[in-house]
Amino acid sequence: MAIEVDDILRRNSLSVTDSRKKILSLFLSIHGALAHGDIERKAGEKFDRVTVYRTLQTFVEKGIIHTIPTTDNSVRYALCKDNCTEGHHHDNHIHFICMQCGSTLCLEEVLVPEVRLPKGFTSSEIEVVIKGICKECNNKKNSPIVETAGLRLRL
Ligand SMILES: [Zn+2]
Ligand SMILES: [Zn+2]
Ligand SMILES: [Zn+2]
Repeated sequence: MAIEVDDILRRNSLSVTDSRKKILSLFLSIHGALAHGDIERKAGEKFDRVTVYRTLQTFVEKGIIHTIPTTDNSVRYALCKDNCTEGHHHDNHIHFICMQCGSTLCLEEVLVPEVRLPKGFTSSEIEVVIKGICKECNNKKNSPIVETAGLRLRL
């Protein structure tokens, strides 16, 4: 993974710094999105808030990560796919927030539907966030914890 981190930074002509390495590796290690607060917490021992903030801004500008709107005003970020470039994001997919585990996911395969606006209106961006129960939580519901002779096994 260390190689991948360096590779992504170099490809985007960013110098490899400790904070960039740390924060990018956080994104590569998780499936889904990270909240600004989570990133601060996980990188906070080594880097101050300003460094974390600037690093995230740089990644967004370079097309490495994109922001996800949330209803509680906490910004979340997720990795972009390869088609995003500096200054140009093409993350026209739907985002999903699980009400059970709280994770925010990029549903890459579900594109934002086209919306017809009344005459005189032009849109610059459409963001769609769907709330519900994610696949993993739905699966958990269906696979009960098995109890054998007092041993609780989580499948
Ligand atoms: Zn993007
Ligand atoms: Zn879930
Ligand atoms: Zn996304």
